[in-house]
Amino acid sequence: MDMNTRHLISEAANAFLAAPKRMLIGAEWVEAADGALLDVRNPATGETFARVPAGKAADVDRAVRAARAAFEGGPWPALSPAQRERLLLALADRVEANAQELAEIESLDNGKSLGLARHVDMAMAVDFLRYMAGWATKIEGATHDVSVPFMPQARFFAWTRREPVGVVGAIIPWNFPLLMAAWKIGPALAAGCTVVLKPAEETPLTALRLGELILEAGIPPGVVNIVTGLGETAGAALAGHPGVAKIAFTGSTAVGKLVQRAAIDNMTRVSLELGGKSPVIVLDDADPAQAAAGAAQAIFFNQGQVCTAGSRLYVQRKLFDQVVGELAGIASRMKLGPGLDPASELGPLVSEAQRDRVCGYIDGGVAQGARVAAGGGRAGEPGYFVQPTVLVDVRQDMRVVQEEIFGPVVVALPYDDVDEAVALANDTPYGLGASIWSNDLARVHRMIPRIKAGTVWVNCHSMLDASLPFGGFKQSGIGREMGRAALDMFTETKAVMMAV
Ligand code: NAD
Repeated sequence: MDMNTRHLISEAANAFLAAPKRMLIGAEWVEAADGALLDVRNPATGETFARVPAGKAADVDRAVRAARAAFEGGPWPALSPAQRERLLLALADRVEANAQELAEIESLDNGKSLGLARHVDMAMAVDFLRYMAGWATKIEGATHDVSVPFMPQARFFAWTRREPVGVVGAIIPWNFPLLMAAWKIGPALAAGCTVVLKPAEETPLTALRLGELILEAGIPPGVVNIVTGLGETAGAALAGHPGVAKIAFTGSTAVGKLVQRAAIDNMTRVSLELGGKSPVIVLDDADPAQAAAGAAQAIFFNQGQVCTAGSRLYVQRKLFDQVVGELAGIASRMKLGPGLDPASELGPLVSEAQRDRVCGYIDGGVAQGARVAAGGGRAGEPGYFVQPTVLVDVRQDMRVVQEEIFGPVVVALPYDDVDEAVALANDTPYGLGASIWSNDLARVHRMIPRIKAGTVWVNCHSMLDASLPFGGFKQSGIGREMGRAALDMFTETKAVMMAV
């Protein structure tokens, strides 16, 4: 790592980055069975600043065995719910105590701003682990007063139990790496499951640091195993492994479909948090400046690499020029720079491939007739920067309007009446989030049931809370994470009937 960068991060982060990286399997830190390594790059410079093991099927198999051994016997099933709760709280404390170091590693690895990593990613991970810890002691069944019709004289007592599903394969993306790991590990451990975590190949570092904190917190070895590696090798091996009872996947819709196919033969349970193309709908009574600022936050937060990013802006025609003009002004004034520079408002994208993909979408949109109202392409060398971009003069059927770009690019379209706004908002294969900007409560209430999305925000966007179920309609996924709903995905219901 270059000296300038080294000076910008703490001794603790430097020490972690200087040490050789190994995967966590059972109680051991191990190399890949074949010794292969993956480069980890700093998106602000393109420099390789770390290497991690390139785990493959043999490593995944070892990790699943370790997780299964911890699930079937050993200390994990012997712990009471309250003991699991305390271990998750201890982990949350460890993450909180090391939040600055973790945020520095995350910022370097992903490109996001250090402030965002510290105050959003780490703060939410801590909060989420604490929230989920509480559920460990609140997993309940029900008693049933049954009346078996063909045995009218007999008496039975019946009840349900919720039991941990087993070994969970957690496959996560690169946009909020440590937070996504917490989203999987929290409910899995609260429910009594064990885990094999496969972080994204672009951002594997905080997961490995989390592995150290997991052991320090006293969580028994084998309960969480961490295998770094490519999606098509390590990820695919995990999704198709017969020893895995459930896959909890967050990532793109295309890969989500592969994961679901891989899981079919073993009837592995699957929950999928997938992509989105979330609309921001501005009604004609909205304050244009507030709506523009909200739209900017909705798309440019985390460089637009957010599953719920407000990537389609629909503004009632009479406000269109004003809102889009203000949004383009905000975009043009944003300062691009490395995540570790406190002055930067927009960091680089995560990888060269992602930068090229995003720029390819912008160029494709322009070739189809879109006009650039702000931004329009790459910025700065050698990092993977893309200008915050606003496209207008687009049509609903264009790829830039229909497909997830996953970068700082928003398309803006005018509409005339609310029926048209609802139809346009619902007209993509996705259904993750949507926001409505208006103070006309009656109209907003009437619109909410008509929007096909897992979350609808009003006068805000991409606000999440540990207690609120989160997930997608349509091709944005299956299942809900967070809230009580998350526990359902990590448990099986067992019905019990006793003759009395
Ligand atoms: P991705 O689908 O390319 O990768 C996600 C994970 O899947 C990575 O760990 C990757 O290694 C692994 N993977 C790749 N191929 C695999 C295969 N064949 N089998 C098993 N695993 C495989 O996604 P990404 O580019 O890392 O992340 C961006 C995507 O994630 C976007 O579409 C975004 O919308 C989505 N996302 C969704 C949510 C949500 O909660 N709905 C949250 C964050 C990101």
